[in-house]
Amino acid sequence: MDPRSLAELAKALASGETSSFALTESALARIDALDSELNSFISIDREAALQDAKTADARIASGDAGPLTGIPIAHKDIFCTRNLRTSCGSRMLDDFIPPYDATVVERLRSAGAVLIGKTNMDEFAMGSSNENSFYGPCKNPWDRKRVPGGSSGGSAAAVAAGLVAAATGTDTGGSIRQPAAFCGITGLKPTYGLVSRLGMIAYASSLDQGGPMARSAEDCALLLEAMAGHDVRDSTSINRPPENYRAQLQQSLEGLRIGIPKEYFGEGLDSSVARIIEDALTEYEAMGATLQEISLPRTALSIPAYYVIAPAEASTNLSRYDGVRYGHRCNSPKDLEDLYTRSREEGFGGEVQRRILVGTYALSSGYYDAYYKKAQQVRRLIAGDFASAFESVDVIAGPTTPGVAFELGSKTSDPTAMYLEDIYTLSVNLAGLPAMSLPAGFSDGLPVGLQLIGQHFDEARLLAAAHQFQQRSDWHRQTPELELPA
Ligand code: GLN
Repeated sequence: MDPRSLAELAKALASGETSSFALTESALARIDALDSELNSFISIDREAALQDAKTADARIASGDAGPLTGIPIAHKDIFCTRNLRTSCGSRMLDDFIPPYDATVVERLRSAGAVLIGKTNMDEFAMGSSNENSFYGPCKNPWDRKRVPGGSSGGSAAAVAAGLVAAATGTDTGGSIRQPAAFCGITGLKPTYGLVSRLGMIAYASSLDQGGPMARSAEDCALLLEAMAGHDVRDSTSINRPPENYRAQLQQSLEGLRIGIPKEYFGEGLDSSVARIIEDALTEYEAMGATLQEISLPRTALSIPAYYVIAPAEASTNLSRYDGVRYGHRCNSPKDLEDLYTRSREEGFGGEVQRRILVGTYALSSGYYDAYYKKAQQVRRLIAGDFASAFESVDVIAGPTTPGVAFELGSKTSDPTAMYLEDIYTLSVNLAGLPAMSLPAGFSDGLPVGLQLIGQHFDEARLLAAAHQFQQRSDWHRQTPELELPA
């Protein structure tokens, strides 16, 4: 595989040592060789990718290249791509070909990145294992009997397996960070509002946020610079001056105050994961940071609050898929009622149906105050817990997940067990904060992720903290052994 970082690839392209066409061809060849087993891609756009690579090569030759020009990347199949199927992992959108690009796609395209294809995901981004995909589960490249995490599992697996150097993901309750942790890569969930949601198929609009997934914090910084920015077509997009994240990667960690939430080290945390995270924190002390125990007392409440709010928003967002305006339409409906009912029944998988039912119930008159309103009140308290913690610390650190990647099928029959996997990631979304996961070690050959949580718009500090850890460790450089057929 090509283990080079985005910065190294850009250098190789600039010097003429390689071309975008060659990189794109080799990415496609590697996908051909490995992906029938990994299943990290839903759609590949071979001709368009090679065409874009030629355009990128011309741009490089004319001296007009940016840092991403000519580099093959992949998008999670939740981002609309003009003329390229965007399924969102669902039968409902199996033949949906968007007429426009999501802002994120458009921005990376104009930066010159070459789009190879669209990655596998849990249907409508609902899940923590990628097992809810209409296109079948994606496998973890470190152990193909295990899940890559979800919902951005295809992006994480594709980067970990060296099929592409970088990919996009989205994170509503952990969907960038958890698969990044399970696959041993680096992922960043930006502050809510930093990255445009236009053209990113909505799951829970007040929580959804797109972000980069790559091999290192430096690569994530590069991608975030291209992805972030005000978009007048997204009313929740924040208008603030663009930042140069790469230029800030070396900001000093001397005196950085790291808060360690005691609730993140309690019952349910695997002991070898705990040890690896503690070792990583010791490394931060050696870099000049100070550690301080803090409390985020409502951590456990993030699960019930999230699993009311997210389904409630999903139930309204997904009402547009009715077989008329959007989505799969059943054959020979008897009448309108039958058309709606059967189209939705056939088009949506089991977990999506469960959430639509839960969400509709939580929003229905008579139950609204008891469920949705209560959950919103809890959400406010969770945000308040973070705000108090950030009065005395700069960054919060802990595990991304309670354990390593679990076996395929081991949690599919118990939705609550699956939801509990999200215990350390959900509250960040409820509070709209930025957070990262970066590789911190291995437990029995499986990657473990360290989570860093920052204050609103403090991405530069998170990236610097992650980058400097990666200057002193090589966990992020480890690659799984994948046998290429002879
Ligand atoms: N696992 C969570 C869920 O199932 C989060 C998913 C996400 O972030 N998109 O909803």
